[in-house]
Amino acid sequence: MIAVVHHPDYVTPAPARSTYRWGKNGAIRDLLLEEGDRIAWHCPDPVPPAWLEAVHDPDYVAEVLAARVPADKARRIGFPVTETVARRAQVVPGGTLLAARLALARGFAANTAGGSHHALATTGAGYCVFNDLAVAAARLAEEGRRVLVVDCDVHQGDGTAALLAGRPDCATYSIHADKNFPVRKARSTLDVPLPDGVGDDEYLDILARTLVPLLDGFGPDLILYQAGVDPFAGDRLGRLGVSEAGLVARERLVAGLARERGLPLASTVGGGYGDDTVAIAARHVRAITTLGDVLAR
Ligand SMILES: [Zn+2]
Repeated sequence: MIAVVHHPDYVTPAPARSTYRWGKNGAIRDLLLEEGDRIAWHCPDPVPPAWLEAVHDPDYVAEVLAARVPADKARRIGFPVTETVARRAQVVPGGTLLAARLALARGFAANTAGGSHHALATTGAGYCVFNDLAVAAARLAEEGRRVLVVDCDVHQGDGTAALLAGRPDCATYSIHADKNFPVRKARSTLDVPLPDGVGDDEYLDILARTLVPLLDGFGPDLILYQAGVDPFAGDRLGRLGVSEAGLVARERLVAGLARERGLPLASTVGGGYGDDTVAIAARHVRAITTLGDVLAR
């Protein structure tokens, strides 16, 4: 069985003036429901504010939780932070943390939301409110774990890199399209910027060659994996040329590296943009089931 973390609050109606496609999490849930008994469902709790404040500025945490985020920050996020959005933002990091705890017990678990890697200390950005990866990694580190965040979204994991910088028990890896958002990159433990148009063979080769030395050099107890599907050739906001089969091969590669080392892995979703919400959700679900087939105990 594949452990999947989902919360009803993940599926929210779109706030007014939003360019983000809010239907994706519902479509992911529906497609996973079709997998039947293969999936074991788990529901997370919202995280306490103190756990958010371990990586985010307490004033920003208070602004979000009270749904009083100033207009300039809302613009940077890409949508207004309503009470519904605020409730979702507090539960998604709980989902990534629960996925990590389940992975430690069962080899693998997936959060059906999260991967909010652009959120910074004092503001959200790029459709991200709180940085669930950094919140979960900081909490796990507090409990004595060494955590490697592997970010394969086509956009750099700038927020995660900035929020976890200087923590000896956390490391960050980001493989991304160099010319893509964000314009100003942060410094991850290891950044792998790619030129536009990179296809399957080159992508998988570079991923393996760069990730293995970091994995073995850092020696994590757990991998948090941002499995964004926007390196896909047809993605509206990607700049790479990875095929559907290439994405599946990527998940097999990452899962295989974890399995060879006996490492638990918790995945989140991430980017995936275009008009066909169901096709994008299907890519996320394929990532979850591919990872689960290799890693779930
Ligand atoms: Zn992205």
